[in-house]
Amino acid sequence: MGNNTASIVEQSLTALLDDSSFLPELSGEAREKAFTSLTSILSTPNHIHKSFLRVSLENGEVVRIPAFRVQHNNIIGPYKGGIRFHQSVDEEEVSNLAALMTLKNALHEVPFGGGKGGVIIDPREFKIKELNLICKKYVQYFSEIIGPEKDIPAPDVGTGEREMDWMMGEYKSIHPGMKYRGSFTGKSVVNGGSLGRRQATGKGVYFSLRYMLDDFIQEQNKWLSERNNIFAKTALDHKDKSLRIAIQGFGNVGSVVAMEADKCNFLNNKVVAVSDRNVTLYNSDGLDITELIKYTQANDGDLPIDKERLQSANIKATICDREDLLTIDADVLVLAALGGQIHQENMKEIKAKIIVEGANAPITGDADKYLSEQGTIIIPDILANAGGVIVSYFEWLQGRETQFYTEDQVYNKLYDRMQQTFETVYPQFFGDAFPLRQNCYIHSVMKLSTILFKQGKLY
Ligand code: NAD
Repeated sequence: MGNNTASIVEQSLTALLDDSSFLPELSGEAREKAFTSLTSILSTPNHIHKSFLRVSLENGEVVRIPAFRVQHNNIIGPYKGGIRFHQSVDEEEVSNLAALMTLKNALHEVPFGGGKGGVIIDPREFKIKELNLICKKYVQYFSEIIGPEKDIPAPDVGTGEREMDWMMGEYKSIHPGMKYRGSFTGKSVVNGGSLGRRQATGKGVYFSLRYMLDDFIQEQNKWLSERNNIFAKTALDHKDKSLRIAIQGFGNVGSVVAMEADKCNFLNNKVVAVSDRNVTLYNSDGLDITELIKYTQANDGDLPIDKERLQSANIKATICDREDLLTIDADVLVLAALGGQIHQENMKEIKAKIIVEGANAPITGDADKYLSEQGTIIIPDILANAGGVIVSYFEWLQGRETQFYTEDQVYNKLYDRMQQTFETVYPQFFGDAFPLRQNCYIHSVMKLSTILFKQGKLY
């Protein structure tokens, strides 16, 4: 487990240990013992599977590529989590992400456990046929430990529906006659994927912000204004403001957040800055998101990097350095690129008072603590970016029933489920002035602990 996740889980367990109304059946020495066992269960994965995929490249070279599947916990249901193709993948990162999935699914009442996969490659350096082979090999090497009732992978950084289609195809060949649709989620619609899956995470990320600043505040305005709570003050300060939004990352998640913000009638907001792996684009009057999405779709996912490209796409923006996005003068910062983006070195320069985590673990523990102490509202990954796994669950269900939902049904079900979680955590967050991340973790840990206890696993 990553430092931040581990320490928050530990704090959550300490708070629950001291709360005698939680699991009152456990007291004295038995309680101490059960909590020690909980700490070890939650802080270590059940299994770490590692293989070297032997792949023959088109130039005749044969390479051995390190690949992982970490299965953190399956007390709530089959392991579930994406497969990341990235050069910086390592066992520790995959394990941390698997733990986060266990907690995320528990928080949103998704009946899955937590898993994660990783392959150490830069997919841009491989030919399509080679990538296809890497995907097939991944399934071959891990074929016995994955499956619709065991462990269900999905896309992550560097993978998408193309890879999930290939992998499901390979799973089907290896296990003829078995139900295969639920073996992978995030597939193309024609292959049993769910409508709306690609947009689900970004939609959920934006919804977490919109719900807090619109629905929740409207309902709880009086209650909130009576609270002596730094986070309630931040939220109320932003309620009627014209919000300037900056978004780091303009891929699946970031571009959908930008589009949602652009067409939202509930919040008075505009997207003033977006960034990707190359640049930041800034326009204080608001960027033309529709044109930027068209541009990235036609240019391998990248934003325009110079004046000529901006001009020919008819987009008005100033080009800044990639890292400038984080410290730009904005009210809301959406982090939708990679982990560890706000850290000790840049945390004091962050101006936005509301940060939404579209990416997993984009803020380090030190920075998280510092910003929370300043009253910055951080809507954490575990809460904000669960749209992908929630719709993956719908995809798995649709595959089992072979009945498919319309796109609107998918989004409505997604919002209903996220709203249920927000209604559980937002009142407590604004009531107790506890960072939201910790609130969420306490809920997840409570759920996991209760199930583990009831299944007789705490001894
Ligand atoms: P993606 O690959 O589609 O997009 C990533 C974007 O980040 C690209 O625009 C890329 O250029 C940009 N980027 C890369 N390095 C950057 C840097 N140093 N600074 C600024 N931008 C940079 O990925 P995605 O699916 O949009 O996922 C984004 C993040 O959200 C990842 O961390 C992923 O784990 C997380 N996430 C995604 C999903 C999902 O369903 N897609 C679900 C949960 C969490």
